[in-house]
Amino acid sequence: MSLRESSALRQSSVVVAAGRPAPEPGAPLNSGIPLSATFHAGTDANYLRQGGSEITRAFETALGELEGGLALGFSSGMAAIAAVIEGLPTGSVIVAPRSVYSGSSMLLDEQVRLGRALVRRVDISDTAAVLKALRLVPAPALLWVETPTNPMFEVADLPVLTEAAHAVGALVAVDSTWNSPVVLRPLEHGADIVMHSATKYLAGHSDVLMGALVAKDSKVWAGLKLRRDLGGASPGALETFLTLRGMRTLAVRMDRAQANAADLARRLDAHPGVERVLYPGLPADPGHERVTRLHQGYGAMISFLVTGGAAEAEAVCDRVALITHATSLGGVESLIERRARYAVDAANGAPENLLRFSVGIEHVEDLWDDLVQALAG
Ligand SMILES: *Cc1c(COP(=O)(O)O)cnc(C)c1O
Repeated sequence: MSLRESSALRQSSVVVAAGRPAPEPGAPLNSGIPLSATFHAGTDANYLRQGGSEITRAFETALGELEGGLALGFSSGMAAIAAVIEGLPTGSVIVAPRSVYSGSSMLLDEQVRLGRALVRRVDISDTAAVLKALRLVPAPALLWVETPTNPMFEVADLPVLTEAAHAVGALVAVDSTWNSPVVLRPLEHGADIVMHSATKYLAGHSDVLMGALVAKDSKVWAGLKLRRDLGGASPGALETFLTLRGMRTLAVRMDRAQANAADLARRLDAHPGVERVLYPGLPADPGHERVTRLHQGYGAMISFLVTGGAAEAEAVCDRVALITHATSLGGVESLIERRARYAVDAANGAPENLLRFSVGIEHVEDLWDDLVQALAG
């Protein structure tokens, strides 16, 4: 029985079982790291840049199973985003979140500066505002979604947005990096393309840079593959091996990190050194209803506003000991940083005292002890 036929498997089994070599006597359980740029002639995929390596196919099979579509590996998350956005015809209209990953924000601004695209930025959680932007003339070619947004936790009502986008002829692409496929499957809610920075939860160990796209439709997939192959954005064999290796533990890592995050968000919410917590698992959070309805969990990211402004927020980053003061997210280790230190996040509305906290898989009491001593000063 192939995994494609066994669609009854749950995500935590698919991450373990998908993308394995055929179970022949003496065959390895894992694809290796074929350090080869070219492969013997006789197939139509015989060059690494064209995704012709066995390890690339193994990764793409596994991620495709997890998202319910056709996957493509990229050399980074940004390379994957660029393949979608820069592949649009010149003059295309893009509707995108106001608060969005900084790299996506800068890439969109650059498209506008070069005269290649028109971008309508919206609060992605304000469904009426998104529908209005979708229905303006000229009609958009793409709705770019991030949900929850980075670092403001705005949550999109995905089924409503995808239906409205399709009604005006726009494709919908979702940056689902913060969720991973065990928390959200955007294609099931009508999206056409899912994007991941595999650097984050998929690889999970902060030791690799890689990205991915997953398309529902084979024509869309073929267009994205052409962009990847012509742009030279294919991943290397070592990176792809490490990401697939990391994905085997994705479900258990997410279980633990999400449980830690739920607990720490509640405790931070009651701490006098914290003004406000942004985390959709809290019942009072504006995104709570949508995440409860559409996602399989509340994720392992938290933003919180520190009492005492930017200086105090920076001081918390200096004082943490178990938690690491560093950018990025999605690894086994907890990371924290003040996002408004980046001009692009500050301009997109990140409060100066906001700390973005990527909750790892350490013991929750050790994480809490570290936060308490850092917040106390
Ligand atoms: C990190 C990140 C990206 C960019 O991915 P890279 O792998 O760093 O190129 C895109 N979107 C989100 C939400 C991210 O966190």
